[in-house]
Amino acid sequence: MSSVSSAVTPENLLRPEVLALHAYHVPPAAGMVKLDAMENPYLLPQALRDDIARLVADAEINRYPDAGAHQLKAAIGRVTNLPAGMDILLGNGSDEIIQLLALAVAKPGAVLLSVEPSFVMYRMIARFAGMKYVGVPLAEDFSLDLKTMLEAVKREQPALVFLAYPNNPTGNQFDAEAIKQIIQVAPGLVVVDEAYYAFARDSFIPLLGQYPNLLVMRTFSKLGMAGLRLGFLAGAPAWLGQLEKLRLPYNVGVLPQLVAAKLLEHHDVLLAQAERIKQERTVLLAALASIGGVHVYPSDANFILFRVARATQIFEGLKQRGVLIKNLDGGHPALADCLRVTVGTPDESRKFVAALQDTINQLA
Ligand code: PMP
Repeated sequence: MSSVSSAVTPENLLRPEVLALHAYHVPPAAGMVKLDAMENPYLLPQALRDDIARLVADAEINRYPDAGAHQLKAAIGRVTNLPAGMDILLGNGSDEIIQLLALAVAKPGAVLLSVEPSFVMYRMIARFAGMKYVGVPLAEDFSLDLKTMLEAVKREQPALVFLAYPNNPTGNQFDAEAIKQIIQVAPGLVVVDEAYYAFARDSFIPLLGQYPNLLVMRTFSKLGMAGLRLGFLAGAPAWLGQLEKLRLPYNVGVLPQLVAAKLLEHHDVLLAQAERIKQERTVLLAALASIGGVHVYPSDANFILFRVARATQIFEGLKQRGVLIKNLDGGHPALADCLRVTVGTPDESRKFVAALQDTINQLA
């Protein structure tokens, strides 16, 4: 080995922003009741699974995928009632779309603004795309603090604003009128991230034509397709046409394209599963609220945020009892002693509530 190459280390070669990052942590979950990642717990009906098996068997995986994903985009346009004249850009999960947007606007000094606490990838991607990140605190009840938000937008002049609607990890849906005011004041793009649209009360997709700087992002991950990795951005062709230049040509593979298009023909099946999850959310909210010492936050998503004394010990106690949820304690000051549980099946809820009660009793 030459002396030159042996002097090369990650520390002296990589960008400081990269060295300062912590990788997004995905804990092992084999054998656990898995309620940490907002997945849909239900499998598809057998007949649909058989259809998919046939599609996959005949798929031309020796060829590159359709780079324009025409069939899949048409299916998405149909199920989302996309307003006339609007277009779609596909991502390998919506995470990839956040990254693409950040790369597109990251001029020196450009700002990505969101609220805190919210989805951690906004901050992480801003940092590694070389943008300045500004996180505006939510009010104490996790609603939008509109005055502070409008001031921050005017002061920071963000190129990109992300608002998760409903928000992760708090679970609430912000006031739509407040978001409209932010869109009107924002000097750049405002992306309303509707990852949890299937469990929410309304959507900004019908408003796409009204605000030239509005884009709406969605993922199919929470609707039963987390394993396919598929998200999309909806908006005016003037924006999406430019962003398409940054999309890697074959970012959505042959199999995800085929399977997702087939599943969207059966969107009703997926929405019926989402409906079951919403019903179970009501049951789980009530069960959590009835446990002494647990403070539950309202949810318009497929997960529930709650606060409990000694959250980290409770989280570990749950894990020992075979139940994996998400520990948010220590992540953000507003989330001290907070835990987040995904709404699963009734059976999973029972196991989780029993394990929680048992852990609390043991710690008492
Ligand atoms: N946006 C929000 C608000 C999320 O909570 C998530 C997933 N946790 C995503 C985007 C990313 O989803 P995916 O990459 O699976 O499409």
